[in-house]
Amino acid sequence: MYVHPLAAADAARVPVCNERSVRLKKKQNFSDAAWEEGHVNIIYLTVTNSCQLRCKYCYIHDKEIPKRMDFTIAKKSIDYLLNEHRYFTKRSGIFHFFGGEPFLEIDLIDRMSDYIVKQLEQKNHKWAKSYKFEITTNGILYDNEKVQNFIRKHLRNLKLSITIDGTQRKHDLQRIYPDGKGSYDRVVKNIPLWIKQFPNAYTIVTIAKADIPYIKESVIHIWSLGIRDIIIRIQKEDKYDPEDAIVYEEQIKSLADYIIDHDVDKKYRCLLFSQFIGGPLRSEKSGCGAGRGVLAVDSNGDFYPCTVFLPYSINRKNKPERKIGNCFEGISYNKIRPFQYVSIPASSPQACKICENASGCDFCPAMNLKYSDTATIFERAIHNCHFHLAHVRANKYYFDKLKTKSK
Ligand code: SF4
Ligand code: SF4
Repeated sequence: MYVHPLAAADAARVPVCNERSVRLKKKQNFSDAAWEEGHVNIIYLTVTNSCQLRCKYCYIHDKEIPKRMDFTIAKKSIDYLLNEHRYFTKRSGIFHFFGGEPFLEIDLIDRMSDYIVKQLEQKNHKWAKSYKFEITTNGILYDNEKVQNFIRKHLRNLKLSITIDGTQRKHDLQRIYPDGKGSYDRVVKNIPLWIKQFPNAYTIVTIAKADIPYIKESVIHIWSLGIRDIIIRIQKEDKYDPEDAIVYEEQIKSLADYIIDHDVDKKYRCLLFSQFIGGPLRSEKSGCGAGRGVLAVDSNGDFYPCTVFLPYSINRKNKPERKIGNCFEGISYNKIRPFQYVSIPASSPQACKICENASGCDFCPAMNLKYSDTATIFERAIHNCHFHLAHVRANKYYFDKLKTKSK
């Protein structure tokens, strides 16, 4: 079988789960031995739900009601997490400052990161020599002096991604200020400085229903800005029509033509293509990190299995919260257990179990919960089955064409 050089590292990718895609990307870039082994724990610390933007596809609701973490809660959460060795058994740790727009709380982030570093050293914690800070930002405050001081202080242990969504018309279609004005011009100004400081940085492009016709031009535009790696995140909350799937397939095929005709596959990367999309399920492991090493802390110090379960996150139609503890009482292992048991086989209907194209198809317990009638994470959401099949066809088109070219 022809195997594309990028495919090996991409083997278990679940394309719609941003979480998984980003982690795989990191494993490829880090040189530290501990990271190479993939022993990583990821803690999302939600410093604020506020943001300067009102992106139309954003899954964070209620930005108008500000919720910011104060340092007492931050300290209490960090203290608990660094003393809780039962859950965090791995050798490396990631602290992801999460928003809203995290840089709105740069003073807090600076104080928290200093505290984490100090505590890791004082406790002689196993992560003291193997930790990272991570931030995904809308890029608006990137050139702010306090932000730049923070970046310089932690550059060695920092992964930072600016979200730019593509061409101006695609970016400004979604990523707008409250008055409706687009944010492209403000963000694109900061891209050269970002690439200079983080040459291996990637960006995450979100595609919602309205964006599908702009996928190809957006990927090419982002590459032209000097960003070599792009993760495409399909907005999971949307339900896609058969017409959307047709345009989606055309866009990916057209992008495939561009990549192959212009020989850009060795220099640039877009995680829309993978040898492991399509075909029967190769592994029962889903790639979902919820309850298996990912933990999200909200601004009150409450714990959730992943950021998509945060209270002001995905609209769960009044279904009960899936809180799994807090910084005062700790993690409740009984509440994590369902997340450790939920799996593709345990939640899928028979059609998925015998599906010839199940590999890479979306599996997300948060979406299961949202779309189930009974508030369960064990009932697989399959409303975008046809969309995945369009992706499978376009992906096959790419690899067939690549194979023919390389003969
Ligand atoms: S529940 Fe799992 S699959 Fe869904 S977003 Fe969270 S980590 Fe990803
Ligand atoms: S949702 Fe559709 S494509 Fe995905 S595994 Fe189930 S039957 Fe296959």
